[in-house]
Amino acid sequence: MRHFALVGSGPAGFYTAEALEKAYGEQARIDILDRYPVPYGLIRFGVAPDHQSLKAVSKRYDKVAESAGVDFIGNVCVGRDVSVAELLDLYDAVILAIGAPHDRKLGVPGEDLPGVVGSAEFVGWYNGHPEFADLDPPLGGTHAAVVGNGNVALDCARILSKTRHEFEGSDIVGHALGALDQSAIRTVTILGRRGPHQIAMTPKELGELGHLEAAIPIVEPSDFPPAEADEPLDPGLRKSVGLLRGFASLDANKPKHMVFDFFAKPVAIEGDGKAEKIIVERTELDEKGAARGTGETYQVPASLVITAIGYSTPRIEGVAYDQRGGKFLNNAGRIGERLYAVGWARRGPTGTIGTNRPDGYEVADQVVAAMPPGSSSDCAGAEGLKRLLESRGVMPTDYDDWRKIEETETGRARPGSPREKFVRVEEWLSALGR
Ligand code: NAP
Repeated sequence: MRHFALVGSGPAGFYTAEALEKAYGEQARIDILDRYPVPYGLIRFGVAPDHQSLKAVSKRYDKVAESAGVDFIGNVCVGRDVSVAELLDLYDAVILAIGAPHDRKLGVPGEDLPGVVGSAEFVGWYNGHPEFADLDPPLGGTHAAVVGNGNVALDCARILSKTRHEFEGSDIVGHALGALDQSAIRTVTILGRRGPHQIAMTPKELGELGHLEAAIPIVEPSDFPPAEADEPLDPGLRKSVGLLRGFASLDANKPKHMVFDFFAKPVAIEGDGKAEKIIVERTELDEKGAARGTGETYQVPASLVITAIGYSTPRIEGVAYDQRGGKFLNNAGRIGERLYAVGWARRGPTGTIGTNRPDGYEVADQVVAAMPPGSSSDCAGAEGLKRLLESRGVMPTDYDDWRKIEETETGRARPGSPREKFVRVEEWLSALGR
């Protein structure tokens, strides 16, 4: 028998558990640990609440969690309740799948002013992440700005621009729905430090902007190179650029505007005790395709500034860290003896949910090669972990507990929503009678 610990129950953790379960069957116990009693990480807390079809992938993870060799151990924070070194004593291999939940910093003056929030905070707020339930982003001004030209920037801009009616069928949390419904924001400026050919937005996500009830995307045709310059682009990017070009011909007769401002690099955020405007420098592309400032600056009004410029993985004591990449230092997923990383903690914050499948399977293959099915050890596994946690007064939760929480959330759903999510750890525990 082998014992494996996966730390983190998002897509990367679940695909790796699936791969290990397939490889070992009854010859391994696979424990998926999470700091919260609710699983699925990015699916619950990161994927936009109006993208329910993407969230449906958790059904696949349910099947993994229900398989005989796999257990979910929630309410246990690795690094606080138990160390990685202790897990390595208890398990044959430890695989870190903790994602990249921290916002990268812009590094400009004024970034710490009230009204400037990272996308992890903003997304966490509307998705019911307990750390951000009290974020209360300022929605009382008419102008907001989102920095970045990736899909997360699009998510944030779209959520700011949708009507209450458009959130029907989503699982956006009640506090965010109520606040957004009262929002005075009419213009969301999306700042890209490079041009339309350098966006990281995908066609499906971009295409949605053309069909919003009260908002319209706006582009400046002179930001685009001649149409024939799109030909050599990768098909996906070419499609995205085509969609962007098409926005120029939309009728702007809607109350909310989503303004794409390209070649626009924030150099400061200013205001009287809170964010009021961003000072932006016009850029051009240098020989290597990077943004180079031209020296020309202008102001973009914004009492809410959301930075959506990428994420990093938090450090864990004793685990080698790649400061530049914002992830664990690893070689094809291997951090050290019996210690691995998968998903964003391994690769950095890129790719779709599906990218985590081959990633997890590849690391599972390495584990299989190092300790083939049929081999065994005298590791204590979950029994040892639970004894250790009990001695520290930590009460783990299991998969049945999660189903109870899910049922309670579903039972309190408001009309038009699949569920009303709990947003505090105490609420989850009280649903379990603790
Ligand atoms: P991303 O795709 O890497 O985009 C980050 C953006 O931030 C880029 O446009 C980048 O511009 C810009 N940026 C970085 N540093 C900057 C700075 N200092 N100043 C100004 N701009 C800066 O990251 P993401 O949007 O956080 O998304 C993470 C991953 O999740 C991506 O793979 C994304 O596709 C995926 N995702 C998918 C979906 C979906 O499928 N629906 C939804 C959300 C996220 P440069 O290119 O110039 O560096």
